[in-house]
Amino acid sequence: MRPSKSSVAPLDVLVIGAGLSGLYQLYQLRERGLRVLVLEVGSGVAGTWYWNRYPGARCDSTAECYQYWFSEDLLNEWTWSERFPAQPETERYLNYVADKFDLRRDIQFNTRVSAADFDETDNRWTVTTASGETFTAQFLVMATGGLSTPTLPDIAGHADFQGLSFHTGRWPKEAVDFTHKRVGIIGTGATGIQVIQSIASQVGHLTVFQRTPNYAIPMRNPRYDATRVAELRRDYPEIKELVHNTFTGHDYDFGTIKFEDLTTAERDARMWAYWNDGSLKFWVGAFGEIFADQRVNDYVSEFVRARIRERVTDADVVEKLLPKDYGFGTRRVPLETGYFEVFNQPNVHLVDLNEEPIERFTASGVQTKKGEHALDAVIFATGFDAGTGSLTAIDIRGRKKLLLRDAWNEDGIRAWMGLQVHGFPNMFMIMAPLSPAAAFCNVPTCSQQQVDWISNCITYTRDQGHRSIEPTAEAEARWGEHHDELANATLVPKTKSWYMGTNVAGKPRRLLAYVGGANTYRYACDKIAAEAYPESVFN
Ligand code: NAP
Repeated sequence: MRPSKSSVAPLDVLVIGAGLSGLYQLYQLRERGLRVLVLEVGSGVAGTWYWNRYPGARCDSTAECYQYWFSEDLLNEWTWSERFPAQPETERYLNYVADKFDLRRDIQFNTRVSAADFDETDNRWTVTTASGETFTAQFLVMATGGLSTPTLPDIAGHADFQGLSFHTGRWPKEAVDFTHKRVGIIGTGATGIQVIQSIASQVGHLTVFQRTPNYAIPMRNPRYDATRVAELRRDYPEIKELVHNTFTGHDYDFGTIKFEDLTTAERDARMWAYWNDGSLKFWVGAFGEIFADQRVNDYVSEFVRARIRERVTDADVVEKLLPKDYGFGTRRVPLETGYFEVFNQPNVHLVDLNEEPIERFTASGVQTKKGEHALDAVIFATGFDAGTGSLTAIDIRGRKKLLLRDAWNEDGIRAWMGLQVHGFPNMFMIMAPLSPAAAFCNVPTCSQQQVDWISNCITYTRDQGHRSIEPTAEAEARWGEHHDELANATLVPKTKSWYMGTNVAGKPRRLLAYVGGANTYRYACDKIAAEAYPESVFN
């Protein structure tokens, strides 16, 4: 137990979380001469890339787009080994950044924040940790991650299960040996797919419990040799410019070619060209109309289903693997490597939970409607309480002691620009709901954009002699209406997924991320700053 009173002098800014966003936030605020401390629950930096060390964890964004842009030295020193780096490489990169910029001296690890209270008299936040330490700071930045609070399904008898249990989002640091083991995995999202394709040839037997099949598409992941690295370094200025001006923060965008203007042969040629890129470019770039036009979406969905059919030999199994009741791209599209072929292996069994729901855990496995599946280990790849989970897990009390958790329960999720919440002055959020960063953006692009904006806003507020900044209720409501209007013009709300909050019982249903585009959002944020924050009240 640490002392109840912090020995740390009052801070200008307290940042919660030392992942990709928190590290950069610390760097930026320190550069501006502010006194900053980061509190981090893990024992190391890297956030998502610290916790998600499950077999096969790998980035679905290309290395050249999934990095920091603030340091020429860093861009020239760090060498990515492949197009889609695996978890250890990205974790190493973030550790390298922490060392290079001497960030650790202002990070307190192994520290779970339990509460944050805004004091209206002195306009400061008091943050309390699980071990009873307190810190005060004028500003609070929640860099707690969009996908950092794991969800476990409520399955009866879990405590009775005598085998090993894992959640992918809390994977142990020690290697887990599944050789010859009977392993069950629940969940076939982006995470489950990576685990399944990685362990299927190692385990004795793999039982995949699938509730919803996914339109996963093949990843093309070449190694980066010295020539390619040199080319990329030469192109970095162009790539940096590009990612900051595209809809999703990647180095590609919606095409200008319209589906309607093409013949069937031309449509197919275009889809094949994007498909062969082996990246998420197929999702965004082939036909942007898939997000709003059901007919185009049906066409592309059928193209992807045809690719799945080609790869699975058993006719019954392939039927179970084909997504049929929602459209391609309306939930996160996973990249895969040999995933569908796994189901041709004799040691892999697919359980369709729609036909055969799980009834309970037993001491020796999982009991479904059709019988018991004996298991030595179970892996929950069941996802996260996205966007809100890491924020509502903390007792955040704003003005009039209003709890953020209650604010979001009564009125649904509300957040001005996805950056601040009315009633919670001087608190900023990165990758929070109602911003593109919550889901529809390459994370480093949008998180760096938000960090830059927050850093400038904090500096401005202080330089003008103000003690606090808070968005007005009207501005917040306007942003919410604009968000909903755009969201409801797409097909995304028709599909169940963490994008809509449907994966968490009782969570208000609302499209989590802003769908107006990361580029449009950035221009709007820049305009607000240039106009001296006209939608906020200063004290
Ligand atoms: P997810 O997409 O929410 O998938 C969770 C899976 O668990 C789904 O298949 C879900 O089925 C299933 N599930 C949940 N509760 C269940 C229950 N009670 N019974 C049976 N099945 C249940 O979570 P995720 O795969 O961890 O991915 C979350 C996000 O993390 C991704 O969308 C992506 O943004 C990010 N991610 C990125 C990468 C990368 O860059 N490579 C890798 C992994 C994850 P239903 O679909 O039926 O709900």
